Amino acid sequence: MDKGKILSKLPSVDELLNNKKIINLLEKVPRNVVVNEIRNSLERYRKKILSMDGEILNKFKIDIDEIVFNVVDNSHEFMEMNLREVINGMGTVLHTNLGRALLSETIRERVWSVASGYSTLEIDVLTGKRGIRYSHVIEIIKFITKAEDVLVVNNNAAAVMLALSTMAKDREVIVSRGELVEIGGSFRVPDVMEQSGTRLVDVGTTNKTHLWDYESAINENTAALLKVHTSNYRILGFADSVGLGDLVELGKKNNIPVIEDIGSGVLVDLRKYGLMYEPTVQESVAAGVDVVTFSGDKLLGGPQAGIIVGKKRYIDKMKKNQLTRAFRIDKLTLVALEATLRLYLDEEKAMKSIPTLRMLTEPLDSINARAKMLYGMIVSKKLDLDVSIGENYSEVGGGALPLEKLPTYVITIKAKNISSAQLEDRLRKYSTPIFTRVNDDRVIIDLRTVKEKQYETIVQALVETVGKQ
Ligand SMILES: *Cc1c(COP(=O)(O)O)cnc(C)c1O
Repeated sequence: MDKGKILSKLPSVDELLNNKKIINLLEKVPRNVVVNEIRNSLERYRKKILSMDGEILNKFKIDIDEIVFNVVDNSHEFMEMNLREVINGMGTVLHTNLGRALLSETIRERVWSVASGYSTLEIDVLTGKRGIRYSHVIEIIKFITKAEDVLVVNNNAAAVMLALSTMAKDREVIVSRGELVEIGGSFRVPDVMEQSGTRLVDVGTTNKTHLWDYESAINENTAALLKVHTSNYRILGFADSVGLGDLVELGKKNNIPVIEDIGSGVLVDLRKYGLMYEPTVQESVAAGVDVVTFSGDKLLGGPQAGIIVGKKRYIDKMKKNQLTRAFRIDKLTLVALEATLRLYLDEEKAMKSIPTLRMLTEPLDSINARAKMLYGMIVSKKLDLDVSIGENYSEVGGGALPLEKLPTYVITIKAKNISSAQLEDRLRKYSTPIFTRVNDDRVIIDLRTVKEKQYETIVQALVETVGKQ
């Protein structure tokens, strides 16, 4: 049979709209969506036919059921929210691809009330006059960090760009070669500097940079000394870098400001809680760094944001930069940031109610107890799988504490009827996607990053993906 004849037998859009299954579908899915999916399915079917020839073409019969099945399936898929909650069973606390820091449940109402209502975003309630967007977080960030002034933007990349563009456009900025960082592919220090219109002057070597390296690069064109935190790697062994204090002193002596991109920007000294050292914002401010930038959604545990703290005269200049308008933080971010920062007024409260800090410092026996609970729930279903509790390590992730390996407890699963790679794949494609790791041919769920209210979903997903014994 020739292709034209087959194609002419394809059902029309109207015919399909009268199909029983499609009529049922129309009760749940808007007509324009269904019509669109019918057109897409017919188009795919047409292309399939056009690509056939020989024996295959001769034997080919149009299968209406297949077309209808595709329309129903794709229409339902189209109606689903794409951006939705997943279960992080990988144990990486700050997973950039899974959305980094989780907001605290305790701020839910505050965020929603500003999101769904009019707000004090840019109005001064005392005078009724126009207010300043940033005012909501300025005092609290000053209080926590002891900095002179504050500005907040979209993310830390924007913060660095704004600082460099304001303080060093068309001039030189000196950076150590050991600090030419790349974060997650899209943030690269040399590229950000180029984009901001500053000239990178890299000094020292990968493993060692001395104070005199900076000193001998200073000239009348030098606009700033830049220090970048090596967030996601460490240079160990025969290595040396210049301490903040020395760099600040060198800057003062030459009347050149020091800018520090501290990356994660932690506000509490994590050593107190048994974690490795990660420099705090307060230390940089106290050391006299002129401008410090950091992220809102890394160890701070808030929404995506870039926070700039430092000397008033530089921040004032930044406020006048047109980039500040382009990098403007929105009200949802701002209210979530303010509410998160307020939790820091009581450090004990912050450690308990900010999920990032709570997950990083959860005691091992508490994780173990939670592992046992989930284990019991899975075992009680008598599924066709081998399940046990194992010891493992979680990671901090998100470009912070790169060497920290946090001991943890995990559920390890080996299904009897499918491979571990298949199980991992099916769990990820579950209606609430569950992200796991495969280790030694077993699927691993790290309890550190799993909430108790998610256990039921995990059990249900296992029931549906591997079935009963
Ligand atoms: C994470 C990080 C950035 C980028 O921060 P975003 O908030 O993701 O834009 C920049 N510099 C350093 C050192 C970082 O660790």
